[in-house]
Amino acid sequence: MTDLPPPTMRLRIDSEALAHNWRALHAMSGNARAGAAVKANCYGLGVDRAVPVLREAGCRDFFVAHWCEVPAVLRHVPADRISVLHGPLSAEDVTFARATGVRPVIDSLRQAKLWGDGGGGRCHVMIDTGINRLGIAPADISDPAVQSLEVDVLMSHLACADEDSAMNARQLATFLSCIGGVAHREASLANSAGIALGKEYAFALTRPGLALYGGVPRAELDGAIRQVASPEAALIQVRRLNAGDKVGYNATFTAPAPMKVGVVSLGYADGILRSWAGAHFVSGDDRLPILGRVSMDMIVVDLSEAPDLAEGDWVELPYHLPDAARQTSLSQYELLTVLGHRFG
Ligand SMILES: *Cc1c(COP(=O)(O)O)cnc(C)c1O
Repeated sequence: MTDLPPPTMRLRIDSEALAHNWRALHAMSGNARAGAAVKANCYGLGVDRAVPVLREAGCRDFFVAHWCEVPAVLRHVPADRISVLHGPLSAEDVTFARATGVRPVIDSLRQAKLWGDGGGGRCHVMIDTGINRLGIAPADISDPAVQSLEVDVLMSHLACADEDSAMNARQLATFLSCIGGVAHREASLANSAGIALGKEYAFALTRPGLALYGGVPRAELDGAIRQVASPEAALIQVRRLNAGDKVGYNATFTAPAPMKVGVVSLGYADGILRSWAGAHFVSGDDRLPILGRVSMDMIVVDLSEAPDLAEGDWVELPYHLPDAARQTSLSQYELLTVLGHRFG
């Protein structure tokens, strides 16, 4: 088939910044090593682009949520370095884990039995210390189904690491009280924000996700973490408006005077949700305010500061995650994971 013409939108990934962020989080983890949460397609950035960078930076431990996320990561790292956080729900999951060598995280007594009945082998265990999502209750760790597991990493997950909450210390204390009760090789508690809570939260392995990709969940990480992802798109049309002309669905913007506007080939189908209305794109130092509603495939911007921009020129959406979160009232996690699949 004839080659596809070049795309008019792209997600620029700063690989240097991604590698820097992993190294910074690894260093902040003290004696522990940093792994990487690579679930949800590396929080929307793309496994094929991000996992090799993390691997080359020195990361050895990769966490996904679903079994269906394993094949993409397996193209880049060995099976026994990949962990599936949701654990096995069915005998098919157990068969898949044992056949590939991918490590399940055992999250319940039921999963412990399922894994043992299927033949067992090395696994990780999640203890619930208070988040009440997945994890074995501390009272159940003495159960024979748990005691017979071959546990690599004993882990738990913090509910409020991005806040100065008393719950952090409570979860740490509960985790410490469980650690002697299950034989294991290594322990792991901290996500990105947890790394900033201090050395006692790091254990042997930390599991950052958000901060690898440029998120700053706690002020202590500010300055250490660099922006990784930047949505960019071409202007696919430049138009002149007269005073009184309207823009976009529901005609929510009215031109106060004659003005030049550009149509950016990005929209809410790409994850630039309507909550971006009122923000701006940039071209170098020039600000290009968004006019009217965000459409599915298009956003109209004001070209007053950059009247020389023409059809085919590229503009960028500032995607510094803490700023963007304040502006859109989306979480930094949402801002990454909503990014769509059309980016080139
Ligand atoms: C997603 C996830 C992480 C990573 O959390 P961030 O807040 O993105 O750093 C770590 N551990 C578990 C169990 C997770 O589900």
